[in-house]
Amino acid sequence: MAATEVLDPYEIAKGLVKDAVENLGLDDSVYELLKNPQKFVEVSIPVEMDDGSVQSFIGYRSFHNNALGPTKGGIRFHPDVTPEEVKALSVWMTIKSSLLGLPYGGGKGGVLCNPADLSPRELEALSRGYIRAMAPHMGPYKDVPAPDVNTNPQVMAWMFDEYSSIVGENTFGLLTGKPLILGGSKGRVEATGRGTVVTIKQAANHLDMNLAETTTVVQGFGNVGSVAARLMHDAGSKVIAVMEVDGGVYNPEGLDIPKMLEYKVEHGSVAGYPDGEPISNDELLTLECDILIPAALENQITSRNAHDIKAKIVAEAANGPTTPEADRIMTERGILVIPDILANAGGVTVSYFEWVQNLYGYYWTEEEVNSKLEQMMRQAFDWVYNMHTERGMKMRDVAYMVAISRLAEAMKVRGWLPAQRSTYRRS
Ligand code: GLU
Repeated sequence: MAATEVLDPYEIAKGLVKDAVENLGLDDSVYELLKNPQKFVEVSIPVEMDDGSVQSFIGYRSFHNNALGPTKGGIRFHPDVTPEEVKALSVWMTIKSSLLGLPYGGGKGGVLCNPADLSPRELEALSRGYIRAMAPHMGPYKDVPAPDVNTNPQVMAWMFDEYSSIVGENTFGLLTGKPLILGGSKGRVEATGRGTVVTIKQAANHLDMNLAETTTVVQGFGNVGSVAARLMHDAGSKVIAVMEVDGGVYNPEGLDIPKMLEYKVEHGSVAGYPDGEPISNDELLTLECDILIPAALENQITSRNAHDIKAKIVAEAANGPTTPEADRIMTERGILVIPDILANAGGVTVSYFEWVQNLYGYYWTEEEVNSKLEQMMRQAFDWVYNMHTERGMKMRDVAYMVAISRLAEAMKVRGWLPAQRSTYRRS
């Protein structure tokens, strides 16, 4: 790894924003407004454990920017959560929502815990405690959470219930990713993985690649990775390796993904799946393949392994899996890197559909959700791809420029930028 490589996700996120502000020739004040979250809240959440003891968990929420609408973004439960990570993820939500043209700002939450060590009752108490502590800062027009790493529709249901009892009414638009029975949207669970595959299909079209003749590697087999693997498999690509925290499986002849999904339901993980050989994380990332989908955590592709990545397309289903240095190396090597803020934007896009359905109280069919999602993802991909080829800039740089020019415009007309205040004239 290069000695100077920046790995702190918040420094990375700020650097990307700064570059885009400079590339667009915007005033420094745009960066000044975007470099820090507007608000960052840390809470302590006491939980009575099953053994009768009380344990305090630390929870964060970063409200990065609400120029375009209520802050929006998931809540992550993970033992490695840090304030810097949560801030970075909230910046990426601001950029992602703006890129997709959604009426949202960006936010993100995190709780320092290992959900695998908690009983269902403890997990419920923690989820309710988090939302109780954050309730004054949240609301359908203020801040709208959603699932992220290790949180799911059940966690959202507890949080929705807790908030609704605090404010005294069912508040379906408070958060997204809820179970269907509580105002969730059809297609939401699959949305992130589905959106990733839409961007891959668009990329393949532009590159004249026939997906039926490709091989795919997926790092992560959670909600996002498993859906992406299944949809790539359905599209005819040979998925040759998948990986989870506790182990990976490789089969050069192609893995039977529907069977692996059943195996996972039965065993809790794909590690140990018999129809393939075990593979390490490092080996998996550098396998000979056409499409690589990192769908796990940050900093997986760095200057340490970027030279060895063999894929032609890297679709970032995770947030922040590639460092800027690795992005530069891969792009120079002719690899098309579909940046996270585009490749995984399907989740927040269907969250937006869910919120709209909640506010209207009128629900859409799965076909409506999927076709609208596909249309929005294809359009966003094409904008970014066309600008990338026309200007010879990295996909990520172009995506940040599109997002930040929208944000800057909103901040300008809101009167947040000094130039606007001095040039305002009544017409
Ligand atoms: N956690 C997802 C993300 O990182 C979804 C956020 C949302 O739906 O608000 O994009």
